Amino acid sequence: GLESRDISAWFGAHKVLERVSLTMAAGDVTALIGPSGCGKSTYLRILNRMHEMVRGAALAGEVLLDGEDVYAHGRRPAEVRRRIGMVFQRPNPFPGMSIADNVASGLKLAGIKVSREHRDHLVEDSLRRAGLWNEVSSRLGTPGGALSGGQQQRLCIARSLAVEPDILLMDEPCSALDPTSTRRVEETIAELRGRLTIVIVTHNMQQAQRVSQSCAFFLATHDTPGRIVEAGPTAQIFTDPVDQRTADYVNGRF
Ligand code: ATP
Ligand code: MG
Repeated sequence: GLESRDISAWFGAHKVLERVSLTMAAGDVTALIGPSGCGKSTYLRILNRMHEMVRGAALAGEVLLDGEDVYAHGRRPAEVRRRIGMVFQRPNPFPGMSIADNVASGLKLAGIKVSREHRDHLVEDSLRRAGLWNEVSSRLGTPGGALSGGQQQRLCIARSLAVEPDILLMDEPCSALDPTSTRRVEETIAELRGRLTIVIVTHNMQQAQRVSQSCAFFLATHDTPGRIVEAGPTAQIFTDPVDQRTADYVNGRF
């Protein structure tokens, strides 16, 4: 699993996260919820070492992947990003690249050399796990950009899965999708549950309840950085939260 301990983050002098500690249990889907600007995307980028790619970004605290510090001296960011994949709000396949090459592209980026046969196997397996195989198996050579938005998002999930990550981070993966595509992505998440650890940011409270087992509510105010107000089993966060602000947020009173 994945754990953060006392993560604080800054952009220049602006502190955006304050002592965020959270355990994301192996095989579970953890949903991160909270108002716009409370630091959810920043937190995801910290988990897989993308934060340090942002100019002026600073960080304190620890991230542990299966108990080992992701920020340990000498640990390569690229290796961390292979083990902790990310899917973004806007599907971002390489539009001119074939469907198969899109899926396999992560292998190349990660410097993973595989035989032609194994590559084909990984492409098929990843597309199956992403719930896209049946729709594209007869046209793997066509460009990724020719797919619908929802298919492109599942293609991006397949691309992430091809490098066999331990963790998949998803930053509002359905917010650019229509309801049908959203359902398909949610089904994919449900299928992946147990096989890898998923952390999903969503503004959709129904979606958080449908897909996650654990939930963390982030909140920032005009003069306090983002922090976790409350985290726990999803059912409890939605039906019996401890903090009044959590109750207000999940019931749309924010
Ligand atoms: P949303 O729900 O709208 O996606 P969020 O919870 O993902 O919001 P973040 O994008 O993590 O929030 O932003 C948290 C804070 O950090 C905000 O105040 C934002 O303005 C600031 N911030 C984010 N990225 C940068 C950046 N590259 N440079 C400076 N400030 C940034
Ligand atoms: Mg965000």
